[in-house]
Amino acid sequence: MLQRVNPGNKSFSDYRSIIRRDLYDEVHELAERVKGARILHINATSFGGGVAEILYTLVPLMRDVGLECEWEIMFGAEPFFNVTKSFHNALQGADYELTIEDQAIYEEYNRRTAQALAEEGEEWDIMFVHDPQPALLKEFSGGLSDSTKWIWRCHIDTSTPNQKVYDYLEPYVKDYDAQIYTMREYTPPGDGLPNLALIPPAIDPLSPKNMALSREDASYIVNQFGVDTERPFLLQVSRFDPWKDPLGVIDVYRAAKEDVPELQLVLIGSMAHDDPEGWDYWYKTVNYAAGDQDIFLFSNLTNVGAIEVNAFQSLADVVIQKSIREGFGLVVTEGLWKGRPMVASRVGGIPMQVTSGGGILVDDIGEASDACRKLLADAEFAREVGRIGKEHVREHYLTPRLLRDDLALFAKLLGV
Ligand code: UDP
Repeated sequence: MLQRVNPGNKSFSDYRSIIRRDLYDEVHELAERVKGARILHINATSFGGGVAEILYTLVPLMRDVGLECEWEIMFGAEPFFNVTKSFHNALQGADYELTIEDQAIYEEYNRRTAQALAEEGEEWDIMFVHDPQPALLKEFSGGLSDSTKWIWRCHIDTSTPNQKVYDYLEPYVKDYDAQIYTMREYTPPGDGLPNLALIPPAIDPLSPKNMALSREDASYIVNQFGVDTERPFLLQVSRFDPWKDPLGVIDVYRAAKEDVPELQLVLIGSMAHDDPEGWDYWYKTVNYAAGDQDIFLFSNLTNVGAIEVNAFQSLADVVIQKSIREGFGLVVTEGLWKGRPMVASRVGGIPMQVTSGGGILVDDIGEASDACRKLLADAEFAREVGRIGKEHVREHYLTPRLLRDDLALFAKLLGV
């Protein structure tokens, strides 16, 4: 049996006052058309990273608007996660030698998951498969109904992939009835995919991670972690991973601290089950911080959960996202939504979020530290940058828009 996740309940009507009326109505119209459709989301983990984050909101909302929606986790264990982590990195351009052994491990877990799905014996109208880990499920799922439509949702930056891994996966991915990518640059060259959809992800403005917190409540939480809320702090929330460049963030902080000696740095990273590299990189970051008492490292394992992340994001003087590669960067959306000034790398999905005045895009450590200095020195400017960024998110990157785009694709695939 595959693990089925219970994502709790949400009510779409609660979003009415946050979004535009026409978007609210559009969701209802589409929901009426696909009412009762049976949707199964499958991914590799129920905890850590952006996909799980999205599904905890999307699945309850899909249910609330009338779909029969479930979420299951594919089979996985360390050897499999090691391979899929390599695939993930390779698809983002890292060096990696695809071996027959790795291929066999990857295929084995997909085959077993497909078998378990068949044994469950349930009928699904839409199989919504997230990311490369379960990408072979369609191939191995001879046992599922012919009428099931298969969607493959790619959350990562595949614009300059390792060709060998890409060539291996591409035929499987192309075989899906529809593919969703965050942006055009990530789609296969000369795609010829009839149901290709470009849908960026979104955040839930009402989740504990993103709901409005008063300054007092946020300070109360942040203080408990030893961070001095009377002094400024920079923040990056991200897995401990070379692509997120926590060491670069420390360099940015050190350069900015030359001008602002009271500056602190907070790095928060969740440890995901499918991320074996996480611990190595955590220790690398601890070593790089070299005992600096103004650098704080936290994780879900030190009790920094959603509310705490919210509190830190709500109070940070500057939110940094120093990624080397980034599929979309939900943490950027989260930081912007808190109205905080953002300094973020010009990579992947970040530039479409950080546009015209709503944050500062940077290409290297020098630019990042200059941007931090500027924002720390000019509170008026920082406030305006934060305000513009927040409105951009309201318009484009909140869950109701994602729900609408997914429902529109379901309607298209189901011909209703
Ligand atoms: N996250 C978290 N706690 C942490 C680190 C990350 O809850 O300590 C969340 C973060 O708030 C965001 C998600 O994990 O919602 C990361 O998504 P993103 O798209 O930024 O990056 P990914 O990890 O998927 O590459």
